[in-house]
Amino acid sequence: MQDYELSVQHVLWRMERLHSKKEVVTKREQGLHRITNGEMVRRVNRLAGALKRLGVKPGDRVATLAWNNYRHLELYYAVPCMGAVLHTLNLRLFPQHLEFIINDAEDKVLFVDQTLVPLLKPLAGKIPSIKTIVLMTDGAPAAADHGLGEMLDYETLLAAESEDYPWPKLSERMAASMCYTSGTTGNPKGVVYSHRSQFIHTMGVLQADNLAITEKDTVLPIVPMFHANSWGLPYACGMAGSKVLFPDRFMGDAKSVVGLAEEEGATILAGVPTIWIGTVAYLKESGKRLPKVHTVICGGSAIPQAVMQAMDSLGLRMLHAWGMTETSPLGSVARPRADTKPEDELAARLTQGIVVPGVEIRICDPATGAELPWDGVAFGEIQVRGPWIARGYYNGYDPGKLTEDGWFRTGDVAKITPEGYIEIVDRTKDVIKSGGEWISSVELENAIMAHPKIMEAAVIGLVHPKWDERPVAFAVPKPEFKGQVTQEEVIDFLRDKVAKWWLPDEVRFIDEVPKTSVGKFDKKVLRAAAAPIKESAAPAVRK
Ligand code: ADP
Repeated sequence: MQDYELSVQHVLWRMERLHSKKEVVTKREQGLHRITNGEMVRRVNRLAGALKRLGVKPGDRVATLAWNNYRHLELYYAVPCMGAVLHTLNLRLFPQHLEFIINDAEDKVLFVDQTLVPLLKPLAGKIPSIKTIVLMTDGAPAAADHGLGEMLDYETLLAAESEDYPWPKLSERMAASMCYTSGTTGNPKGVVYSHRSQFIHTMGVLQADNLAITEKDTVLPIVPMFHANSWGLPYACGMAGSKVLFPDRFMGDAKSVVGLAEEEGATILAGVPTIWIGTVAYLKESGKRLPKVHTVICGGSAIPQAVMQAMDSLGLRMLHAWGMTETSPLGSVARPRADTKPEDELAARLTQGIVVPGVEIRICDPATGAELPWDGVAFGEIQVRGPWIARGYYNGYDPGKLTEDGWFRTGDVAKITPEGYIEIVDRTKDVIKSGGEWISSVELENAIMAHPKIMEAAVIGLVHPKWDERPVAFAVPKPEFKGQVTQEEVIDFLRDKVAKWWLPDEVRFIDEVPKTSVGKFDKKVLRAAAAPIKESAAPAVRK
């Protein structure tokens, strides 16, 4: 067989030769921006020329601070295909995190969307590796008071180049891109993807039992392009030839997103659960429906049952997937197996699913490291290995993440059923250790969010003198029930749903659950601000 180098260049080739008429549609301030793949590939060639002229060499890191839009997609192709490394910056990070990441990666050139220039302002003078900043604007010049020096204009750079870039021969083991973990559990750490890993991951994403994206689809990724490569959707859509819709900076606005999906005929949507909580509310209130959508991919955190059922009842069928930045990210997909009884379908879809072909999985006892059985009862840390799984972090942080025998320790705690369904119990850092036993914060949250008066709930373990830790729930009532739901009501609701000793000691009502930069519940923030458990308020029932 040929020793064919697997690279992102292949995706570019398909877009040009087979899918040049397909469109990439981006929402703008006013109206929509449209570009065909054919036009885009020509611009990608120009962009590669511009990068070269700016002195970008193979292996150099090129950073992007951008929304989901067509220019960001151009960078997704031009940077890796000319041999450099695309580094997508998370625009929701605090300035000190951004500064840390840019310096850690030693980015050389930075591409920034005009609306995001204010985020860079606090970094003026603190990111010495950046030699050039390129501004991506729709006409209006950037405010001059940013203190970051001269910025080059994206369109002017492209206009000066040829549409025929001599793409270099790449080795599949070269770095193609990098992404930092969003820091849900600590400092962001860099994960570097190779051309080979991106290529194989893309093939994995496309499989029928996985995300099953086809040439006939119109895909709207609401997951940011800086969040684990937008779950691999940009390259998967390029490879398949699907039409792509980008929400640009209107990502969190359910009305805009639904409008875009409706106008452009989206068939697949993708985003974290918080996006769907907002979407359900908007659809119910507006009466709008999206009949063309056949799949709503949901991952990033466990999908609450109530949200899946609400979406299903609105005709939006959810597909639950699990993964992480370190796994490119696709790790498992929850499609019920052929022998699933109709009454067991929902439960199967709510699991994290079956590990995808190409990736191996095991669960191990965190204390002894011993592998645990797939009996649906024993739970331990998920460890994975495969061609798109990280073996370590950039600059060698946290070397203990790889076991001696070469498996990546995910930090997620799960059971696996005999059929192979993964059921995530918690993250090792979030699991509540009460009286020597574990309580799953995720299960409790889901049970609470099924209460008809509750919109969101996060559960954390707080120090307890007798039991080490006890669960405390932070719940956000639905707007119409604000001030009208009590702790007792919530705890009573849980009584027939969880073991007695799992019942939270307290339910505290808050206006909003703090979220991380990628829209997950930020338990670090909750923990830091939480008052200690009130002894007197604790329910009588404990283990
Ligand atoms: P961060 O680690 O900073 O949160 P990632 O997006 O890489 O950023 O997060 C990966 C983690 O998100 C996983 O390790 C897991 O804990 C959680 N996660 C992802 N998908 C799911 C899911 N479907 N169900 C439960 N947890 C999930």
